[in-house]
Amino acid sequence: MIPQSKIDEILQAATIEDVVGDYVRLKRRGANLTGLCPFHNEKTPSFSVSPAKGIYKCFGCGKAGNSVNFVMEHDGLGYIEALKSLADKYRIEWPQQENVNIDQEKALRSEKESLQILNNWAAEYFETQLWEAEEGKTIGLSYFEERGFRQDIIKKFKLGYSLEGWNHLHETAIAASYNEEVLVKAGLVKKNEQGKTYDAYRGRVMFTIHGHTGKVIAFAGRQLKKDDKSAKYVNSPETLLYHKSNELYGLFYAKNAIRQNDFVYLVEGYTDVISMHQAGIENVVASSGTSLTENQIKLIKRHTENVTVLYDGDAAGIKASMRGIDMLLEQGLNVKVVPFPDGEDPDSYSRKVGAEDFGTYLKKESRDFILFKVKLLLSDVANDPLKKAQVTRDIVESIGKIPDGIKRMAFIKECAVLLDMNEGLLITELNKTRNDFLTQKEKEWVPTETPKVSLQDELKELLKDEPIFEQERYMVKMMILHGHKEKEGYINTAHYILTTMQALELEFEQEAMRLLVDEIKFMLQENLPLSAAAFINHSNPLISASTASILAQQNEASKKWTEKYNVPLISPEDNYLEDIASNLIYLEKKQLEKMEKLATEELKIAIEKGSEEEVNFSLELIKLLKEKQKELSNKAGIVILH
Ligand code: ZN
Repeated sequence: MIPQSKIDEILQAATIEDVVGDYVRLKRRGANLTGLCPFHNEKTPSFSVSPAKGIYKCFGCGKAGNSVNFVMEHDGLGYIEALKSLADKYRIEWPQQENVNIDQEKALRSEKESLQILNNWAAEYFETQLWEAEEGKTIGLSYFEERGFRQDIIKKFKLGYSLEGWNHLHETAIAASYNEEVLVKAGLVKKNEQGKTYDAYRGRVMFTIHGHTGKVIAFAGRQLKKDDKSAKYVNSPETLLYHKSNELYGLFYAKNAIRQNDFVYLVEGYTDVISMHQAGIENVVASSGTSLTENQIKLIKRHTENVTVLYDGDAAGIKASMRGIDMLLEQGLNVKVVPFPDGEDPDSYSRKVGAEDFGTYLKKESRDFILFKVKLLLSDVANDPLKKAQVTRDIVESIGKIPDGIKRMAFIKECAVLLDMNEGLLITELNKTRNDFLTQKEKEWVPTETPKVSLQDELKELLKDEPIFEQERYMVKMMILHGHKEKEGYINTAHYILTTMQALELEFEQEAMRLLVDEIKFMLQENLPLSAAAFINHSNPLISASTASILAQQNEASKKWTEKYNVPLISPEDNYLEDIASNLIYLEKKQLEKMEKLATEELKIAIEKGSEEEVNFSLELIKLLKEKQKELSNKAGIVILH
């Protein structure tokens, strides 16, 4: 680790106007400097530098950061390399023992690049074998065609074939001057104890795995022979490019459709994803065999809050995966399930009934997970009071995982009817599981790690300037600028904001903001001083860049809602506490409006489907949301005209 004092020293010498000024012609405009963005093509300047804050931000492409971030981005360097290059340029002594680190970082980066180049080559190699080699055509291609995959779909997903022989890929790769060590690291070639090398995927059809930015990061090879005793799928090992638990198969191809539909289908296997694309349903991703991880759920949350789970088989099959589904609830996602007839999965069923009927089936048969669970578990209970008590606890536990209190109440009300139980009793039970659950969560919390290699792709994803996040970005900005200031009854202002938001069950949704909030919590916990400089100079480049991005933003949001809700505009500098309080109300109100809109849509669908319990649930939820909004308006003295 580079000591923070060294980072501060470097950033003090390498001022932002100096560092950027070497590449961009800057003109003064008020307190800031502006110029043409070096990261995207533009004719009128939207690139802004603030010497006072030590940051840059482009309002065209959204790139932002401090001097180190600029060098990372501009010169394509890793974090430590960028620091070192600035230290050299500004003649600051570099700590001796850190040379190891920088070599390591360089080595990691070049290993990552070699793996990427090799993977790109291998994907093409497997495709060529499938389409051109005799063996590939008769065995691989005919297998996919038997499964009913169209040629355009086979090409779209870069499906391929790996020949039977022991060394075909190995020899071809070496002849094309690829390095053997990298071949082994990528898992394309294996080495036995005698040091003999052989192809990893012999006689298998190949699935190319793309990362969420579209890069080829791994492969999975499926066996074709029935008497084969080896694993059904052989997967790439974990590499610098591929961390299985952080990826969802198909996400790259699903992104746009997920945003358009505002929900995603979650399936189990590669072929489920491909079949659904073929049926014209593109908002689909697979956890690819493993049980769902927290990182995968976070990845989903970047794109939507609504998930429909399509797991293999009937009710019993879903019962087996209920724990995994609870994890989705925990992360605040709205979960639905679609059961399939016994023995069918999305792949087999879509082939059986055809694209059109399959689409209709999904729409008609999707049901709310909790209500589905209640009915399913109740069907086993008969008149056994012990079993019923168990089922009740089980269901209340699932409800307890939902972060939103209003939704929890609506579920409790509807479940009380379905279970024929007293509502108060269920609430008592709910509060118990909630407390256990919250203590458990607190124990699990760990601060974020410092990334070792450059993370340009990550930054781009994290920092999208989406207007829906404007208000929460503002809240984080307030904590960074004013968090250290006193607030009666709290450790400080940041503590006040965090405690209040938690009490209101308001979550930070944008990933970069969660990263910053985690850091603020960590600093509070460790009693470290909060300041803008601590965040701008932070040793985690994701934190410094995210901070720069929100600090550079003018607060237009506050003006907008002032006009809309007729609340006087207060300058945050003069009266940040009142501004924070208004913002809290605004955030809460926006969340309620969003939930009500969603619940109204759900109600329409439930009426169409004729599902009594779902209709009742939606009505209950809408009623609760309206009450809550009224309460809120009274509190704020806001006149709501609609
Ligand atoms: Zn730009």
